[in-house]
Amino acid sequence: MIIAGNWKMNPNQAAANALLEAFAAHRNIFQPDCQALCFPPACYYAMAAQKLAGTAMQWGAQNCHQEQAGAYTGEISAQMIADMGGRWVIIGHSERRQYFGETDNLIMEKIDAARAAGLRPILCVGEPEEVRLKGGQDDFVQGQMAASLENIIKMSLADQKTALEKLVIAYEPVWAIGTGKVASLQNIAEMHQGLCDKLIALFGAGLPEKNVPILYGGSVNSQNAADILAIDKVSGALVGGASLEADGFFAIYQAAIENRPN
Ligand code: PEP
Repeated sequence: MIIAGNWKMNPNQAAANALLEAFAAHRNIFQPDCQALCFPPACYYAMAAQKLAGTAMQWGAQNCHQEQAGAYTGEISAQMIADMGGRWVIIGHSERRQYFGETDNLIMEKIDAARAAGLRPILCVGEPEEVRLKGGQDDFVQGQMAASLENIIKMSLADQKTALEKLVIAYEPVWAIGTGKVASLQNIAEMHQGLCDKLIALFGAGLPEKNVPILYGGSVNSQNAADILAIDKVSGALVGGASLEADGFFAIYQAAIENRPN
């Protein structure tokens, strides 16, 4: 299980400090087989590195640039995140696709950059509401995933295995993000099964033994987490709003612990 908190462009410095201190103070609840993650804005990387040192909670970035270095004003490379102690990076979040025009091809390049820097990428896929209303959600999200993994698809089996060991997918229906509308348990189960089947179709023998974890994201909170995390192919949650309150995050984390596979 993986529980990941995406802070987005929140909170202010004092609140970020308080949140990280709460995580550090409750370090004993974090279990090795249930990975807790937080994704602060870049201005708090140093704070996260310092406060989470010695805890089992890891942190990552909400985005990275596809190049290693250069004249890209305002951008941050995957290597810089790794140098600061970050271990993860969210790639292709629907807000990056929507507001920053990120395409599947760019997302593929960012996954390559993350891998080159030793970061674990969380690739986000999800359908907008209009696609779901027309019933095209399976092809849409599976198409996003396949297009973003094209470079991994072309690798040798041995390299694929290494790349897939580090990869995490997050299924986040766009209409459920930050809206309070949660996909039904049946919808989540179907979408995760579809993504799982697609990974098998794409990689077959290249898949690691425990397969690639697929997280659900979209208005997960302390009330609905237990039901969502009990779904067979759900390996955790990517949580936005509810991850900004320590108690909310801990409650979701607790639900994950209770739903760990045996
Ligand atoms: C997200 O930011 O990825 C997300 C799922 O947000 P929320 O939990 O607020 O819907």
